[in-house]
Amino acid sequence: MRQHKLALCKEHYLEWIPEQTERFIEKYKMFTREEKILVAVSGGKDSLSLWDILIRLGYQADGLYLGLGIDGGIDYSHESQRLTEKFANERNLKLHVVDIEKEYGQSIPMLAESSHRGYGKPCAVCGLAKRHEMNRIARDLGYDVLATGHNLDDEAAVLFGNTLSWASEYLLRQGPVLPETSGLARKVKPLCRFYEREMTAYALLSGIEYIYEECPFAEGSQSIFYKETLNQLETTRPGAKLTFYLRFLEARKSGELFIEKNVQQGVLHACPKCGQPTSTPDFCSFCRMIERANVEME
Ligand code: SF4
Repeated sequence: MRQHKLALCKEHYLEWIPEQTERFIEKYKMFTREEKILVAVSGGKDSLSLWDILIRLGYQADGLYLGLGIDGGIDYSHESQRLTEKFANERNLKLHVVDIEKEYGQSIPMLAESSHRGYGKPCAVCGLAKRHEMNRIARDLGYDVLATGHNLDDEAAVLFGNTLSWASEYLLRQGPVLPETSGLARKVKPLCRFYEREMTAYALLSGIEYIYEECPFAEGSQSIFYKETLNQLETTRPGAKLTFYLRFLEARKSGELFIEKNVQQGVLHACPKCGQPTSTPDFCSFCRMIERANVEME
Protein backbone atom coordinates (compact mmCIF):
# COMPACT_ATOMS: atom_id res chain seq x y z
CA MET A 1 0.00 0.00 0.00
CA ARG A 2 2.13 2.86 -1.38
CA GLN A 3 -0.09 5.55 0.13
CA HIS A 4 0.48 4.16 3.64
CA LYS A 5 4.10 3.08 2.96
CA LEU A 6 3.02 -0.28 4.35
CA ALA A 7 3.29 -3.90 3.19
CA LEU A 8 1.51 -6.71 5.06
CA CYS A 9 1.22 -10.47 4.76
CA LYS A 10 -2.22 -12.11 4.47
CA GLU A 11 -2.52 -12.84 8.19
CA HIS A 12 -1.66 -9.30 9.28
CA TYR A 13 -3.68 -7.69 6.49
CA LEU A 14 -6.82 -9.53 7.70
CA GLU A 15 -6.16 -8.11 11.17
CA TRP A 16 -5.23 -4.60 9.97
CA ILE A 17 -8.47 -3.93 8.05
CA PRO A 18 -10.84 -4.67 11.02
CA GLU A 19 -8.51 -2.75 13.41
CA GLN A 20 -8.58 0.30 11.15
CA THR A 21 -12.36 -0.01 10.72
CA GLU A 22 -12.78 -0.02 14.49
CA ARG A 23 -10.58 3.09 14.68
CA PHE A 24 -12.75 4.92 12.12
CA ILE A 25 -15.98 3.83 13.88
CA GLU A 26 -14.68 5.34 17.14
CA LYS A 27 -13.08 8.44 15.58
CA TYR A 28 -16.27 9.49 13.80
CA LYS A 29 -18.55 8.24 16.63
CA MET A 30 -20.56 6.06 14.24
CA PHE A 31 -22.14 3.61 16.72
CA THR A 32 -21.52 1.59 19.85
CA ARG A 33 -21.66 -2.13 20.61
CA GLU A 34 -25.02 -1.60 22.32
CA GLU A 35 -26.64 -0.25 19.16
CA LYS A 36 -28.40 -2.31 16.46
CA ILE A 37 -26.88 -1.89 13.00
CA LEU A 38 -28.57 -2.57 9.66
CA VAL A 39 -26.00 -3.18 6.90
CA ALA A 40 -27.21 -2.52 3.35
CA VAL A 41 -25.79 -5.45 1.35
CA SER A 42 -25.78 -5.70 -2.43
CA GLY A 43 -23.79 -8.92 -2.93
CA GLY A 44 -20.70 -6.87 -3.85
CA LYS A 45 -17.27 -6.99 -2.20
CA ASP A 46 -17.62 -3.79 -0.15
CA SER A 47 -20.96 -4.40 1.55
CA LEU A 48 -20.28 -8.10 2.27
CA SER A 49 -16.82 -7.24 3.61
CA LEU A 50 -18.32 -4.54 5.83
CA TRP A 51 -20.83 -7.01 7.27
CA ASP A 52 -18.04 -9.56 7.80
CA ILE A 53 -15.82 -7.00 9.58
CA LEU A 54 -18.60 -5.74 11.86
CA ILE A 55 -19.44 -9.29 12.93
CA ARG A 56 -15.75 -10.08 13.54
CA LEU A 57 -15.53 -6.94 15.69
CA GLY A 58 -18.50 -8.10 17.77
CA TYR A 59 -21.13 -5.59 16.64
CA GLN A 60 -24.84 -6.44 16.40
CA ALA A 61 -25.23 -6.24 12.63
CA ASP A 62 -28.08 -7.60 10.49
CA GLY A 63 -28.27 -7.32 6.69
CA LEU A 64 -30.75 -5.77 4.28
CA TYR A 65 -30.84 -6.85 0.64
CA LEU A 66 -33.01 -4.87 -1.80
CA GLY A 67 -34.20 -6.79 -4.87
CA LEU A 68 -34.08 -4.29 -7.74
CA GLY A 69 -35.24 -6.62 -10.53
CA ILE A 70 -32.21 -5.84 -12.75
CA ASP A 71 -31.31 -8.51 -15.29
CA GLY A 72 -29.10 -6.82 -17.93
CA GLY A 73 -28.32 -10.14 -19.63
CA ILE A 74 -26.33 -11.43 -16.62
CA ASP A 75 -29.23 -12.04 -14.23
CA TYR A 76 -27.61 -9.42 -11.98
CA SER A 77 -30.22 -9.15 -9.22
CA HIS A 78 -30.81 -12.89 -8.99
CA GLU A 79 -27.10 -13.67 -8.71
CA SER A 80 -26.35 -10.89 -6.21
CA GLN A 81 -29.26 -12.07 -4.01
CA ARG A 82 -28.06 -15.67 -4.19
CA LEU A 83 -24.55 -14.71 -3.04
CA THR A 84 -25.87 -12.46 -0.27
CA GLU A 85 -28.15 -15.22 1.06
CA LYS A 86 -25.28 -17.72 0.86
CA PHE A 87 -23.03 -15.37 2.85
CA ALA A 88 -25.72 -14.89 5.54
CA ASN A 89 -26.64 -18.60 5.74
CA GLU A 90 -23.03 -19.77 6.05
CA ARG A 91 -22.49 -17.42 9.00
CA ASN A 92 -25.95 -17.83 10.51
CA LEU A 93 -26.68 -14.09 10.18
CA LYS A 94 -30.06 -12.39 9.98
CA LEU A 95 -30.86 -11.02 6.52
CA HIS A 96 -33.95 -9.00 5.53
CA VAL A 97 -34.85 -9.27 1.85
CA VAL A 98 -37.17 -6.68 0.30
CA ASP A 99 -38.16 -7.05 -3.33
CA ILE A 100 -39.14 -3.69 -4.87
CA GLU A 101 -41.40 -5.30 -7.50
CA LYS A 102 -43.27 -7.43 -4.94
CA GLU A 103 -43.59 -4.44 -2.61
CA TYR A 104 -44.70 -1.81 -5.16
CA GLY A 105 -45.74 -3.77 -8.26
CA GLN A 106 -42.81 -2.57 -10.42
CA SER A 107 -39.09 -3.31 -10.66
CA ILE A 108 -36.45 -0.57 -10.97
CA PRO A 109 -36.19 -0.88 -14.80
CA MET A 110 -40.02 -0.69 -15.03
CA LEU A 111 -40.12 2.40 -12.79
CA ALA A 112 -37.35 3.99 -14.86
CA GLU A 113 -39.31 3.26 -18.02
CA SER A 114 -42.38 5.08 -16.75
CA SER A 115 -40.32 7.96 -15.35
CA HIS A 116 -38.12 8.59 -18.38
CA ARG A 117 -40.26 6.90 -21.05
CA GLY A 118 -37.44 4.54 -21.89
CA TYR A 119 -34.64 7.12 -22.14
CA GLY A 120 -31.59 7.40 -19.93
CA LYS A 121 -30.30 5.15 -17.15
CA PRO A 122 -32.42 3.99 -14.21
CA CYS A 123 -29.81 5.17 -11.66
CA ALA A 124 -31.73 8.25 -10.47
CA VAL A 125 -34.87 6.13 -9.90
CA CYS A 126 -32.79 3.36 -8.33
CA GLY A 127 -31.01 5.75 -5.94
CA LEU A 128 -34.30 7.30 -4.86
CA ALA A 129 -35.89 3.88 -4.24
CA LYS A 130 -32.86 2.55 -2.34
CA ARG A 131 -32.66 5.62 -0.06
CA HIS A 132 -36.41 5.41 0.66
CA GLU A 133 -36.48 1.68 1.34
CA MET A 134 -33.30 1.56 3.43
CA ASN A 135 -34.62 4.33 5.65
CA ARG A 136 -38.08 2.73 5.88
CA ILE A 137 -36.77 -0.68 6.92
CA ALA A 138 -34.20 0.74 9.36
CA ARG A 139 -36.87 2.78 11.14
CA ASP A 140 -39.75 0.27 10.94
CA LEU A 141 -37.58 -2.53 12.38
CA GLY A 142 -36.06 -0.39 15.12
CA TYR A 143 -32.42 -0.23 13.99
CA ASP A 144 -30.28 2.57 15.45
CA VAL A 145 -28.13 3.06 12.42
CA LEU A 146 -27.88 2.18 8.73
CA ALA A 147 -24.38 1.24 7.47
CA THR A 148 -23.34 1.21 3.82
CA GLY A 149 -20.15 -0.14 2.20
CA HIS A 150 -19.01 3.04 0.40
CA ASN A 151 -15.21 3.01 0.06
CA LEU A 152 -12.73 5.86 -0.48
CA ASP A 153 -12.94 5.62 -4.28
CA ASP A 154 -16.74 6.04 -4.08
CA GLU A 155 -16.49 8.98 -1.69
CA ALA A 156 -13.66 10.74 -3.56
CA ALA A 157 -15.59 10.40 -6.86
CA VAL A 158 -18.75 11.91 -5.31
CA LEU A 159 -16.70 14.70 -3.73
CA PHE A 160 -14.95 15.36 -7.05
CA GLY A 161 -18.27 15.58 -8.92
CA ASN A 162 -19.86 17.84 -6.30
CA THR A 163 -16.79 20.09 -6.22
CA LEU A 164 -16.72 20.41 -10.02
CA SER A 165 -20.31 21.65 -10.00
CA TRP A 166 -19.88 23.36 -6.60
CA ALA A 167 -23.00 21.59 -5.32
CA SER A 168 -22.98 23.17 -1.85
CA GLU A 169 -26.01 21.34 -0.52
CA TYR A 170 -24.51 17.93 -1.37
CA LEU A 171 -21.05 18.92 -0.11
CA LEU A 172 -22.60 19.90 3.19
CA ARG A 173 -24.19 16.46 3.57
CA GLN A 174 -21.13 14.39 2.60
CA GLY A 175 -19.19 12.68 5.38
CA PRO A 176 -18.66 9.41 7.26
CA VAL A 177 -21.77 10.05 9.39
CA LEU A 178 -25.10 11.63 8.50
CA PRO A 179 -26.77 12.21 11.87
CA GLU A 180 -30.28 11.02 12.65
CA THR A 181 -33.00 13.63 12.16
CA SER A 182 -36.73 13.39 12.67
CA GLY A 183 -37.87 10.55 10.38
CA LEU A 184 -34.41 9.82 8.95
CA ALA A 185 -32.14 7.09 10.34
CA ARG A 186 -28.46 7.81 11.10
CA LYS A 187 -26.30 6.74 8.15
CA VAL A 188 -22.66 5.71 8.43
CA LYS A 189 -19.87 4.63 6.06
CA PRO A 190 -17.25 2.72 8.09
CA LEU A 191 -15.15 1.84 4.97
CA CYS A 192 -14.91 5.42 3.66
CA ARG A 193 -11.14 5.62 4.25
CA PHE A 194 -10.21 2.36 2.50
CA TYR A 195 -9.21 2.30 -1.16
CA GLU A 196 -11.32 0.09 -3.41
CA ARG A 197 -8.34 -2.20 -4.09
CA GLU A 198 -7.86 -2.61 -0.33
CA MET A 199 -11.44 -3.84 0.01
CA THR A 200 -11.03 -6.16 -2.99
CA ALA A 201 -7.94 -7.63 -1.33
CA TYR A 202 -9.83 -8.05 1.95
CA ALA A 203 -12.75 -9.87 0.27
CA LEU A 204 -10.46 -12.17 -1.71
CA LEU A 205 -8.17 -12.99 1.22
CA SER A 206 -11.18 -13.61 3.50
CA GLY A 207 -12.68 -16.02 0.98
CA ILE A 208 -15.86 -13.97 0.62
CA GLU A 209 -17.77 -15.01 -2.49
CA TYR A 210 -19.15 -11.85 -4.11
CA ILE A 211 -20.59 -10.78 -7.45
CA TYR A 212 -17.72 -9.68 -9.72
CA GLU A 213 -19.92 -8.06 -12.34
CA GLU A 214 -20.92 -4.44 -11.86
CA CYS A 215 -24.59 -3.57 -12.28
CA PRO A 216 -25.09 -3.47 -16.09
CA PHE A 217 -26.34 0.11 -15.83
CA ALA A 218 -23.10 1.31 -14.21
CA GLU A 219 -21.24 1.16 -17.54
CA GLY A 220 -20.38 4.59 -18.89
CA SER A 221 -21.67 6.39 -15.80
CA GLN A 222 -20.27 9.72 -14.67
CA SER A 223 -19.08 8.27 -11.36
CA ILE A 224 -16.95 5.69 -13.21
CA PHE A 225 -15.44 8.48 -15.32
CA TYR A 226 -14.58 10.43 -12.14
CA LYS A 227 -13.06 7.30 -10.57
CA GLU A 228 -10.86 6.72 -13.64
CA THR A 229 -9.75 10.36 -13.58
CA LEU A 230 -8.83 10.14 -9.89
CA ASN A 231 -7.02 6.83 -10.52
CA GLN A 232 -4.77 8.57 -13.04
CA LEU A 233 -3.95 11.20 -10.43
CA GLU A 234 -3.33 8.51 -7.81
CA THR A 235 -0.88 6.70 -10.11
CA THR A 236 1.44 9.70 -10.24
CA ARG A 237 0.70 10.98 -6.74
CA PRO A 238 0.06 8.05 -4.36
CA GLY A 239 -2.27 9.10 -1.57
CA ALA A 240 -3.91 11.90 -3.60
CA LYS A 241 -7.44 10.48 -3.18
CA LEU A 242 -7.06 10.05 0.56
CA THR A 243 -5.63 13.56 0.98
CA PHE A 244 -8.43 15.05 -1.14
CA TYR A 245 -11.11 13.39 1.02
CA LEU A 246 -9.47 13.90 4.43
CA ARG A 247 -8.67 17.58 3.81
CA PHE A 248 -12.29 18.11 2.85
CA LEU A 249 -13.47 16.48 6.09
CA GLU A 250 -11.03 18.63 8.12
CA ALA A 251 -12.19 21.83 6.43
CA ARG A 252 -15.83 20.88 7.04
CA LYS A 253 -15.20 20.10 10.68
CA SER A 254 -13.33 23.33 11.34
CA GLY A 255 -16.17 25.31 9.72
CA GLU A 256 -13.74 26.80 7.19
CA LEU A 257 -15.88 25.93 4.18
CA PHE A 258 -18.02 28.88 3.23
CA ILE A 259 -20.76 26.49 2.13
CA GLU A 260 -21.59 25.98 5.82
CA LYS A 261 -22.62 29.60 6.11
CA ASN A 262 -24.39 29.99 2.80
CA VAL A 263 -26.51 26.87 2.48
CA GLN A 264 -29.91 26.95 4.10
CA GLN A 265 -31.53 23.65 4.99
CA GLY A 266 -35.01 23.26 3.52
CA VAL A 267 -38.00 22.83 5.86
CA LEU A 268 -39.11 19.20 5.99
CA HIS A 269 -42.54 17.74 6.71
CA ALA A 270 -43.90 14.19 6.80
CA CYS A 271 -45.14 12.73 3.49
CA PRO A 272 -48.91 12.12 3.93
CA LYS A 273 -48.54 8.68 2.32
CA CYS A 274 -45.40 7.05 3.75
CA GLY A 275 -44.58 9.40 6.63
CA GLN A 276 -40.95 9.96 5.59
CA PRO A 277 -39.60 13.54 5.69
CA THR A 278 -39.80 15.51 2.45
CA SER A 279 -39.19 19.09 1.36
CA THR A 280 -41.84 18.95 -1.39
CA PRO A 281 -45.27 20.40 -0.53
CA ASP A 282 -47.27 17.16 -0.87
CA PHE A 283 -46.15 13.52 -1.35
CA CYS A 284 -42.42 12.70 -1.24
CA SER A 285 -40.54 12.06 -4.50
CA PHE A 286 -40.67 8.27 -4.01
CA CYS A 287 -44.46 8.13 -3.47
CA ARG A 288 -45.01 10.45 -6.43
CA MET A 289 -42.87 8.18 -8.60
CA ILE A 290 -44.89 5.08 -7.59
CA GLU A 291 -48.20 6.90 -8.18
CA ARG A 292 -47.08 8.08 -11.62
CA ALA A 293 -45.92 4.60 -12.59
CA ASN A 294 -49.20 3.03 -11.44
CA VAL A 295 -51.26 5.56 -13.44
CA GLU A 296 -49.21 4.77 -16.56
CA MET A 297 -49.84 1.05 -16.07
CA GLU A 298 -53.64 1.47 -16.00
FE1 SF4 B 1 -28.95 1.16 -9.40
FE2 SF4 B 1 -27.58 2.49 -11.29
FE3 SF4 B 1 -26.30 1.41 -9.19
FE4 SF4 B 1 -27.37 -0.15 -11.06
S1 SF4 B 1 -25.69 1.32 -11.36
S2 SF4 B 1 -27.53 -0.46 -8.85
S3 SF4 B 1 -29.21 0.98 -11.61
S4 SF4 B 1 -27.81 3.07 -9.11
